[in-house]
Amino acid sequence: MTRYGCFMIYKWSKKDFEGGHIVKRYWKEILVFSLILGVMLAGCGGQQAQDTKGKPTIGVAIYKFDDTFMTGVRNAISQAGEGKAQVDIVDSQNSQPTQNDKVDLFITKKTNALAINPVDRTAAGVIIDKAKKANIPVVFLNREPLPEDMKKWDKVYYVGAKAEESGTISGQLIVDHWKAHPEMDKNKDGVLQYVMLKGEPGHQDAELRTKYSVQAVQDAGIKVEKVAEDTGMWDRVKGQEKMAAFLAAHGDKIEAVFANNDDMALGAIEALKANGYFKDGKFLPVVGVDATAPALKALEEGTMLGTVLNDAKNQGKATFNLTYVLAQGQTPNKENSGYEIVDGKYIWIPYKKITKANMNDAK
Ligand code: BGC
Ligand code: CA
Repeated sequence: MTRYGCFMIYKWSKKDFEGGHIVKRYWKEILVFSLILGVMLAGCGGQQAQDTKGKPTIGVAIYKFDDTFMTGVRNAISQAGEGKAQVDIVDSQNSQPTQNDKVDLFITKKTNALAINPVDRTAAGVIIDKAKKANIPVVFLNREPLPEDMKKWDKVYYVGAKAEESGTISGQLIVDHWKAHPEMDKNKDGVLQYVMLKGEPGHQDAELRTKYSVQAVQDAGIKVEKVAEDTGMWDRVKGQEKMAAFLAAHGDKIEAVFANNDDMALGAIEALKANGYFKDGKFLPVVGVDATAPALKALEEGTMLGTVLNDAKNQGKATFNLTYVLAQGQTPNKENSGYEIVDGKYIWIPYKKITKANMNDAK
Protein backbone atom coordinates (compact mmCIF):
# COMPACT_ATOMS: atom_id res chain seq x y z
CA MET A 1 0.00 0.00 0.00
CA THR A 2 2.67 2.49 1.04
CA ARG A 3 4.82 1.49 -1.90
CA TYR A 4 1.94 1.93 -4.29
CA GLY A 5 1.25 5.43 -2.90
CA CYS A 6 4.89 6.43 -3.21
CA PHE A 7 5.03 5.09 -6.73
CA MET A 8 2.09 7.26 -7.72
CA ILE A 9 3.58 10.40 -6.23
CA TYR A 10 6.84 9.63 -8.03
CA LYS A 11 4.97 9.23 -11.33
CA TRP A 12 3.18 12.56 -10.98
CA SER A 13 5.25 15.34 -12.43
CA LYS A 14 4.74 19.03 -11.66
CA LYS A 15 3.03 19.41 -15.02
CA ASP A 16 0.39 16.88 -14.02
CA PHE A 17 -0.75 19.07 -11.17
CA GLU A 18 -1.49 21.93 -13.50
CA GLY A 19 -4.81 22.21 -15.29
CA GLY A 20 -6.41 19.08 -13.82
CA HIS A 21 -4.44 16.66 -16.05
CA ILE A 22 -3.80 14.48 -13.08
CA VAL A 23 -7.42 13.48 -12.67
CA LYS A 24 -7.81 12.65 -16.34
CA ARG A 25 -4.57 10.67 -16.60
CA TYR A 26 -4.68 8.74 -13.35
CA TRP A 27 -8.40 8.39 -12.58
CA LYS A 28 -8.13 4.63 -12.19
CA GLU A 29 -5.21 4.89 -9.77
CA ILE A 30 -6.96 7.62 -7.80
CA LEU A 31 -10.07 5.51 -7.52
CA VAL A 32 -8.14 2.47 -6.24
CA PHE A 33 -6.08 4.64 -3.89
CA SER A 34 -9.17 6.32 -2.41
CA LEU A 35 -10.88 2.98 -1.89
CA ILE A 36 -7.88 1.51 -0.07
CA LEU A 37 -7.51 4.67 2.02
CA GLY A 38 -11.20 4.52 2.94
CA VAL A 39 -10.92 0.92 4.11
CA MET A 40 -7.82 1.79 6.16
CA LEU A 41 -9.49 4.74 7.89
CA ALA A 42 -12.60 2.73 8.67
CA GLY A 43 -10.39 0.06 10.22
CA CYS A 44 -8.64 2.66 12.39
CA GLY A 45 -11.88 4.27 13.52
CA GLY A 46 -12.78 1.67 16.13
CA GLN A 47 -9.34 1.73 17.65
CA GLN A 48 -8.93 5.48 17.66
CA ALA A 49 -9.01 5.69 21.45
CA GLN A 50 -6.47 2.94 22.01
CA ASP A 51 -3.36 4.25 23.66
CA THR A 52 0.01 4.18 21.99
CA LYS A 53 0.69 0.63 23.16
CA GLY A 54 -2.62 -0.61 21.73
CA LYS A 55 -4.33 -1.00 25.11
CA PRO A 56 -8.03 -0.16 25.39
CA THR A 57 -8.97 3.12 27.06
CA ILE A 58 -11.41 3.29 29.96
CA GLY A 59 -12.90 6.55 31.25
CA VAL A 60 -13.93 6.56 34.92
CA ALA A 61 -15.86 9.43 36.58
CA ILE A 62 -16.11 9.33 40.41
CA TYR A 63 -18.80 11.45 42.13
CA LYS A 64 -16.13 13.12 44.26
CA PHE A 65 -12.54 12.19 45.08
CA ASP A 66 -12.96 13.46 48.63
CA ASP A 67 -14.97 10.41 49.81
CA THR A 68 -13.19 7.83 51.95
CA PHE A 69 -15.00 4.78 50.62
CA MET A 70 -14.86 5.83 46.95
CA THR A 71 -11.13 6.49 47.34
CA GLY A 72 -10.77 2.81 48.18
CA VAL A 73 -12.83 1.81 45.13
CA ARG A 74 -10.87 4.21 42.92
CA ASN A 75 -7.55 2.75 44.02
CA ALA A 76 -8.85 -0.77 43.41
CA ILE A 77 -9.91 0.18 39.85
CA SER A 78 -6.43 1.58 39.06
CA GLN A 79 -4.75 -1.43 40.56
CA ALA A 80 -6.88 -3.89 38.60
CA GLY A 81 -6.20 -1.99 35.36
CA GLU A 82 -2.43 -1.83 35.71
CA GLY A 83 -0.68 -3.05 32.56
CA LYS A 84 -3.98 -4.01 30.89
CA ALA A 85 -5.70 -0.78 29.93
CA GLN A 86 -5.25 2.95 30.00
CA VAL A 87 -7.58 3.94 32.82
CA ASP A 88 -8.36 7.65 33.08
CA ILE A 89 -10.09 8.47 36.42
CA VAL A 90 -11.63 11.93 36.87
CA ASP A 91 -13.20 13.83 39.80
CA SER A 92 -16.78 15.06 39.25
CA GLN A 93 -16.44 17.26 42.36
CA ASN A 94 -19.91 16.38 43.58
CA SER A 95 -21.50 18.26 40.67
CA GLN A 96 -23.67 16.53 38.07
CA PRO A 97 -23.05 19.23 35.38
CA THR A 98 -19.28 18.77 35.90
CA GLN A 99 -19.68 15.02 35.55
CA ASN A 100 -21.72 15.42 32.35
CA ASP A 101 -18.92 17.56 30.87
CA LYS A 102 -16.36 14.89 31.78
CA VAL A 103 -18.53 12.22 30.13
CA ASP A 104 -18.80 14.38 26.98
CA LEU A 105 -15.02 14.64 26.90
CA PHE A 106 -14.59 10.88 27.21
CA ILE A 107 -17.07 10.44 24.36
CA THR A 108 -15.25 12.99 22.16
CA LYS A 109 -12.01 11.09 22.77
CA LYS A 110 -13.78 7.88 21.68
CA THR A 111 -12.94 6.14 24.94
CA ASN A 112 -13.64 2.40 24.59
CA ALA A 113 -15.76 2.01 27.75
CA LEU A 114 -17.05 4.14 30.63
CA ALA A 115 -17.38 3.54 34.37
CA ILE A 116 -19.61 6.10 36.05
CA ASN A 117 -20.23 6.71 39.77
CA PRO A 118 -23.07 9.20 39.30
CA VAL A 119 -23.35 12.31 41.44
CA ASP A 120 -27.12 12.08 41.15
CA ARG A 121 -28.25 8.57 40.36
CA THR A 122 -31.35 9.84 38.56
CA ALA A 123 -29.00 11.50 36.02
CA ALA A 124 -27.91 8.06 34.76
CA GLY A 125 -30.59 8.10 32.04
CA VAL A 126 -29.03 11.10 30.29
CA ILE A 127 -25.57 9.51 30.47
CA ILE A 128 -26.95 6.26 29.03
CA ASP A 129 -28.54 8.15 26.10
CA LYS A 130 -25.21 9.81 25.27
CA ALA A 131 -23.22 6.60 25.60
CA LYS A 132 -25.70 4.66 23.49
CA LYS A 133 -25.55 7.27 20.72
CA ALA A 134 -21.76 6.95 20.65
CA ASN A 135 -21.93 3.15 21.12
CA ILE A 136 -19.69 3.26 24.21
CA PRO A 137 -20.67 0.66 26.86
CA VAL A 138 -21.19 2.02 30.36
CA VAL A 139 -20.83 0.46 33.81
CA PHE A 140 -22.35 2.34 36.76
CA LEU A 141 -21.03 1.77 40.24
CA ASN A 142 -21.95 2.45 43.88
CA ARG A 143 -24.95 4.65 43.02
CA GLU A 144 -27.58 2.51 41.41
CA PRO A 145 -29.52 3.90 38.43
CA LEU A 146 -33.28 3.49 38.44
CA PRO A 147 -34.48 0.19 36.92
CA GLU A 148 -36.16 1.95 33.98
CA ASP A 149 -32.83 3.60 33.09
CA MET A 150 -30.96 0.30 33.34
CA LYS A 151 -33.35 -1.08 30.71
CA LYS A 152 -32.57 1.67 28.19
CA TRP A 153 -29.71 -0.20 26.53
CA ASP A 154 -28.17 -3.66 26.66
CA LYS A 155 -24.63 -2.30 27.11
CA VAL A 156 -25.44 -0.83 30.56
CA TYR A 157 -24.24 -2.56 33.73
CA TYR A 158 -24.14 -1.93 37.48
CA VAL A 159 -21.62 -2.97 40.11
CA GLY A 160 -22.63 -2.50 43.73
CA ALA A 161 -23.80 -4.14 46.91
CA LYS A 162 -27.31 -4.84 48.17
CA ALA A 163 -28.05 -1.92 50.45
CA GLU A 164 -30.72 -3.84 52.40
CA GLU A 165 -28.12 -6.41 53.40
CA SER A 166 -25.85 -3.78 55.00
CA GLY A 167 -28.82 -2.31 56.86
CA THR A 168 -29.81 -5.70 58.21
CA ILE A 169 -26.26 -6.44 59.38
CA SER A 170 -26.03 -3.03 61.17
CA GLY A 171 -29.23 -3.88 63.01
CA GLN A 172 -27.91 -7.33 63.94
CA LEU A 173 -24.78 -5.78 65.47
CA ILE A 174 -27.00 -3.77 67.81
CA VAL A 175 -29.22 -6.79 68.55
CA ASP A 176 -26.18 -8.90 69.50
CA HIS A 177 -25.02 -6.21 71.89
CA TRP A 178 -28.48 -5.66 73.39
CA LYS A 179 -28.81 -9.36 74.14
CA ALA A 180 -25.35 -9.64 75.70
CA HIS A 181 -25.54 -6.34 77.64
CA PRO A 182 -28.88 -5.73 79.38
CA GLU A 183 -27.40 -2.50 80.82
CA MET A 184 -27.63 -1.08 77.30
CA ASP A 185 -31.29 -0.38 78.10
CA LYS A 186 -30.34 2.59 80.25
CA ASN A 187 -33.84 3.61 81.34
CA LYS A 188 -34.95 -0.04 81.71
CA ASP A 189 -38.10 0.42 79.64
CA GLY A 190 -37.42 -2.53 77.34
CA VAL A 191 -37.28 -0.18 74.34
CA LEU A 192 -34.19 0.77 72.34
CA GLN A 193 -33.87 4.55 72.11
CA TYR A 194 -31.66 5.25 69.09
CA VAL A 195 -30.38 8.06 66.88
CA MET A 196 -29.77 7.72 63.14
CA LEU A 197 -27.05 9.46 61.13
CA LYS A 198 -28.26 9.11 57.59
CA GLY A 199 -26.17 9.34 54.40
CA GLU A 200 -27.12 11.49 51.44
CA PRO A 201 -30.92 11.46 51.02
CA GLY A 202 -32.03 9.67 47.83
CA HIS A 203 -28.90 7.46 47.77
CA GLN A 204 -30.09 3.85 47.85
CA ASP A 205 -27.55 3.04 50.58
CA ALA A 206 -28.81 5.86 52.81
CA GLU A 207 -32.49 5.06 52.37
CA LEU A 208 -32.23 1.29 52.68
CA ARG A 209 -29.62 1.11 55.44
CA THR A 210 -31.78 3.44 57.52
CA LYS A 211 -34.86 1.35 56.94
CA TYR A 212 -33.40 -2.15 57.26
CA SER A 213 -31.18 -1.50 60.30
CA VAL A 214 -34.21 -0.56 62.38
CA GLN A 215 -36.23 -3.36 60.79
CA ALA A 216 -33.64 -5.95 61.90
CA VAL A 217 -33.89 -4.77 65.51
CA GLN A 218 -37.67 -5.01 65.40
CA ASP A 219 -37.48 -8.42 63.72
CA ALA A 220 -35.45 -9.61 66.71
CA GLY A 221 -38.42 -8.71 68.93
CA ILE A 222 -36.95 -5.49 70.34
CA LYS A 223 -39.14 -2.39 70.50
CA VAL A 224 -37.56 0.79 69.17
CA GLU A 225 -37.98 4.51 69.63
CA LYS A 226 -36.33 6.95 67.24
CA VAL A 227 -34.94 9.80 69.36
CA ALA A 228 -33.48 11.75 66.43
CA GLU A 229 -32.52 11.36 62.78
CA ASP A 230 -30.61 13.67 60.47
CA THR A 231 -28.36 13.48 57.45
CA GLY A 232 -24.61 13.72 57.83
CA MET A 233 -24.16 13.44 54.04
CA TRP A 234 -21.61 10.58 54.43
CA ASP A 235 -19.25 13.14 55.97
CA ARG A 236 -17.21 12.82 59.17
CA VAL A 237 -17.34 16.48 60.20
CA LYS A 238 -21.09 16.68 59.55
CA GLY A 239 -21.57 13.44 61.49
CA GLN A 240 -19.77 14.97 64.45
CA GLU A 241 -21.84 18.18 64.29
CA LYS A 242 -25.13 16.30 64.08
CA MET A 243 -24.20 13.97 66.93
CA ALA A 244 -23.17 16.95 69.08
CA ALA A 245 -26.61 18.45 68.43
CA PHE A 246 -28.36 15.14 69.31
CA LEU A 247 -26.41 14.96 72.58
CA ALA A 248 -27.20 18.57 73.44
CA ALA A 249 -30.92 17.93 72.89
CA HIS A 250 -31.32 14.39 74.26
CA GLY A 251 -28.18 13.57 76.26
CA ASP A 252 -28.50 10.39 78.30
CA LYS A 253 -31.70 9.30 76.64
CA ILE A 254 -29.74 7.90 73.65
CA GLU A 255 -28.95 4.18 73.89
CA ALA A 256 -27.42 3.49 70.45
CA VAL A 257 -26.10 5.27 67.37
CA PHE A 258 -26.70 4.00 63.85
CA ALA A 259 -24.59 5.63 61.15
CA ASN A 260 -25.06 4.81 57.46
CA ASN A 261 -21.26 4.83 56.99
CA ASP A 262 -18.04 4.75 58.99
CA ASP A 263 -17.05 8.36 58.39
CA MET A 264 -20.23 9.59 60.10
CA ALA A 265 -19.82 6.95 62.84
CA LEU A 266 -16.30 8.22 63.49
CA GLY A 267 -17.61 11.79 63.64
CA ALA A 268 -20.22 10.65 66.17
CA ILE A 269 -17.50 8.99 68.25
CA GLU A 270 -15.60 12.30 68.34
CA ALA A 271 -18.71 14.08 69.59
CA LEU A 272 -19.25 11.36 72.21
CA LYS A 273 -15.64 11.61 73.39
CA ALA A 274 -16.11 15.37 73.82
CA ASN A 275 -19.10 14.51 76.05
CA GLY A 276 -17.14 12.19 78.31
CA TYR A 277 -17.88 8.87 76.62
CA PHE A 278 -15.41 6.01 76.15
CA LYS A 279 -13.71 6.57 79.49
CA ASP A 280 -14.53 5.74 83.12
CA GLY A 281 -16.90 3.01 81.97
CA LYS A 282 -19.13 5.36 79.97
CA PHE A 283 -20.01 3.62 76.70
CA LEU A 284 -22.50 3.98 73.88
CA PRO A 285 -22.74 1.46 71.02
CA VAL A 286 -21.99 3.05 67.63
CA VAL A 287 -22.24 1.11 64.38
CA GLY A 288 -21.13 2.12 60.88
CA VAL A 289 -20.76 0.63 57.41
CA ASP A 290 -17.69 0.26 55.11
CA ALA A 291 -14.90 -1.12 57.34
CA THR A 292 -12.46 1.61 56.33
CA ALA A 293 -8.99 1.64 57.91
CA PRO A 294 -9.85 4.34 60.51
CA ALA A 295 -12.99 2.41 61.44
CA LEU A 296 -10.98 -0.75 62.03
CA LYS A 297 -8.71 1.27 64.29
CA ALA A 298 -11.78 2.44 66.23
CA LEU A 299 -12.94 -1.19 66.56
CA GLU A 300 -9.55 -2.09 67.93
CA GLU A 301 -9.67 0.80 70.41
CA GLY A 302 -13.17 -0.24 71.47
CA THR A 303 -14.92 2.99 70.52
CA MET A 304 -16.82 1.57 67.55
CA LEU A 305 -18.96 -1.46 68.29
CA GLY A 306 -19.11 -2.86 64.79
CA THR A 307 -19.25 -2.15 61.09
CA VAL A 308 -20.16 -3.85 57.82
CA LEU A 309 -17.53 -4.61 55.22
CA ASN A 310 -18.42 -2.73 52.03
CA ASP A 311 -15.90 -4.47 49.80
CA ALA A 312 -14.18 -1.60 47.95
CA LYS A 313 -11.54 -3.91 46.56
CA ASN A 314 -13.95 -6.29 44.81
CA GLN A 315 -16.28 -3.48 43.70
CA GLY A 316 -13.30 -1.77 42.04
CA LYS A 317 -12.01 -4.98 40.52
CA ALA A 318 -15.43 -6.01 39.18
CA THR A 319 -15.90 -2.55 37.68
CA PHE A 320 -12.56 -2.72 35.91
CA ASN A 321 -13.06 -6.28 34.70
CA LEU A 322 -16.48 -5.45 33.23
CA THR A 323 -15.29 -2.31 31.42
CA TYR A 324 -12.21 -4.16 30.18
CA VAL A 325 -14.29 -6.92 28.60
CA LEU A 326 -16.74 -4.38 27.14
CA ALA A 327 -13.92 -2.15 25.83
CA GLN A 328 -12.77 -5.08 23.72
CA GLY A 329 -16.20 -5.44 22.17
CA GLN A 330 -17.05 -8.63 24.06
CA THR A 331 -20.13 -9.51 26.09
CA PRO A 332 -19.31 -9.97 29.78
CA ASN A 333 -19.97 -13.29 31.51
CA LYS A 334 -18.72 -15.06 34.62
CA GLU A 335 -15.71 -16.51 32.81
CA ASN A 336 -14.35 -13.32 31.26
CA SER A 337 -15.32 -10.94 34.12
CA GLY A 338 -14.61 -13.20 37.09
CA TYR A 339 -17.97 -12.30 38.68
CA GLU A 340 -21.45 -13.67 38.35
CA ILE A 341 -23.69 -11.38 36.30
CA VAL A 342 -27.25 -11.29 37.57
CA ASP A 343 -30.15 -10.53 35.19
CA GLY A 344 -27.54 -9.86 32.49
CA LYS A 345 -26.64 -6.49 34.04
CA TYR A 346 -25.75 -6.57 37.72
CA ILE A 347 -22.72 -7.63 39.75
CA TRP A 348 -23.50 -7.78 43.49
CA ILE A 349 -20.59 -7.82 45.92
CA PRO A 350 -21.59 -9.26 49.32
CA TYR A 351 -21.34 -7.37 52.63
CA LYS A 352 -19.93 -8.88 55.82
CA LYS A 353 -20.47 -8.27 59.53
CA ILE A 354 -17.26 -6.97 61.15
CA THR A 355 -16.45 -6.66 64.85
CA LYS A 356 -13.18 -6.56 66.75
CA ALA A 357 -13.26 -10.38 66.78
CA ASN A 358 -13.03 -10.81 62.98
CA MET A 359 -11.59 -7.47 61.90
CA ASN A 360 -8.70 -9.15 60.09
CA ASP A 361 -11.21 -10.34 57.46
CA ALA A 362 -11.65 -6.71 56.45
CA LYS A 363 -7.99 -5.81 56.18
C1 BGC B 1 -20.54 4.17 51.26
C2 BGC B 1 -20.29 5.57 51.73
C3 BGC B 1 -19.98 6.46 50.58
C4 BGC B 1 -21.06 6.35 49.52
C5 BGC B 1 -20.71 7.16 48.29
C6 BGC B 1 -21.61 4.17 50.20
O1 BGC B 1 -21.78 2.86 49.71
O2 BGC B 1 -20.93 3.35 52.33
O3 BGC B 1 -19.22 5.61 52.65
O4 BGC B 1 -19.85 7.79 51.02
O5 BGC B 1 -21.25 5.02 49.15
O6 BGC B 1 -21.67 7.05 47.30
CA1 CA C 1 -34.50 2.02 76.72
